[in-house]
Amino acid sequence: MFDNLSEKLDKALHVLKGHGQITEINVAETLKEVRRALLDADVNFKIAKEFTNRVKEKALGENVLTNLQPGQLMVKIVKDELTQLMGGDVEELNLKGSPSVILMSGLQGSGKTTFSGKLANYLKNKKTKKPLLVACDVYRPAAIDQLHVVGEQIGVEVYSDRENKNPVSIAVAGIKHAKSIGSNVVIIDTAGRLAVDEVMMDEIANIHRAIKPQETLFVVDSMTGQDAVNTAKTFNDILNFDGVILTKLDGDTRGGAAISIKSVVDKPIKFIGTGEKMEAIDVFYPSRMADRILGMGDVVSLVERAQEQFDEEQARKIQKKIAKNRFGFDDFLSQIQQIKKMGNMKDLMGMIPGAGKALKGLDIDDDAFKHIEAIIHSMTPDERSNPNKLNTSRKKRIASGSGRTVQDVNQLLKQFDQMSKMMKMMQGGGGKKMMQMMQN
Ligand code: GDP
Repeated sequence: MFDNLSEKLDKALHVLKGHGQITEINVAETLKEVRRALLDADVNFKIAKEFTNRVKEKALGENVLTNLQPGQLMVKIVKDELTQLMGGDVEELNLKGSPSVILMSGLQGSGKTTFSGKLANYLKNKKTKKPLLVACDVYRPAAIDQLHVVGEQIGVEVYSDRENKNPVSIAVAGIKHAKSIGSNVVIIDTAGRLAVDEVMMDEIANIHRAIKPQETLFVVDSMTGQDAVNTAKTFNDILNFDGVILTKLDGDTRGGAAISIKSVVDKPIKFIGTGEKMEAIDVFYPSRMADRILGMGDVVSLVERAQEQFDEEQARKIQKKIAKNRFGFDDFLSQIQQIKKMGNMKDLMGMIPGAGKALKGLDIDDDAFKHIEAIIHSMTPDERSNPNKLNTSRKKRIASGSGRTVQDVNQLLKQFDQMSKMMKMMQGGGGKKMMQMMQN
């Protein structure tokens, strides 16, 4: 899904890697690539331009976050803006009627019938819902057959009337039938055309007016990119629909429709279709979609957590200590506390792209720092500030005090030594760089 776009955005955002700071110049360079990636994905030019302008404004305006690597910061801003562009929050179906009536609209071949089945199946699995499918395509007998096949497959009743050539009266009769069988959700599949035409629009508008559905959904093939967006606009002008269903996302490598549709029609994408099977339906979560588009696992939450815990004052203090060669175990301990505040280890590791999969089933110690902390707590304040005072007898005392071995103490000292050296080396780059290193 959206592979091309993901790859291009990833490349664009890489421009900032290795830069110490976000500047007008490197932001412009990055955003030029981001815009190109969006245009290649078939996002409307105006939307792409407004998008990159907003990202630019945010990126240059962020001074609180300068402690983050520019690459990470940019990913976060792009992700937030993408989420907003795709609708922000998840939008649920309105199922308050009795029965609730859902009217499907869209062009022929968009996946309306398939999606009607998927939605009926999805609702049926919720246990509290008993759906009924209604076939309102009076032109293509094959369409009625198709809905019956789907209904049989998922065990949902289908109402049809092959003798009746009036879709409005079929819809009305379908709803009446639903009441008689105790069905609480009616999904009405309508006829589509290969392209927008007046007769079809009149027909769906008439059905809409007659049955006043709780939900009017517009189904569209995401692979058609800008055409999908334009068709959505035409349907919305007539129907003022409630939500969009994007189908065939499994085959969509570009993603332009998903990204643009909300801002053009100002209606949320409610579900996506990701395959031909009845199970291939997902609620549309803008933020998860943004994650997917950016191929980022959930690194964004990780970055946010790091941001939340970052203490600038403390970072400055530590920087001074390093400069004076006075970074000690107390500082080490407080760094560990900061990392721990970000969440449990398993959770944190799971947010690293790829790590979630690799760590599946592994038992990760929730308190991976427990032993290190125990050893440090067994040191005297003087020892913590002056680790070079730790001779053999002191090490033995610390080991027995913390319930660890002298070997463990030595190992920690070695790690501490390496870390101090590294920090000293980083000193030229200042505290920011050091904190970035610690947060990564
Ligand atoms: P309708 O004319 O709008 O009712 O469209 P159909 O439901 O008949 O779907 C048209 C074609 O698209 C069929 O071959 C479906 O199997 C296929 N299709 C529908 N939804 C999806 C989807 O999410 N992914 C894929 N790959 N194919 C789909």
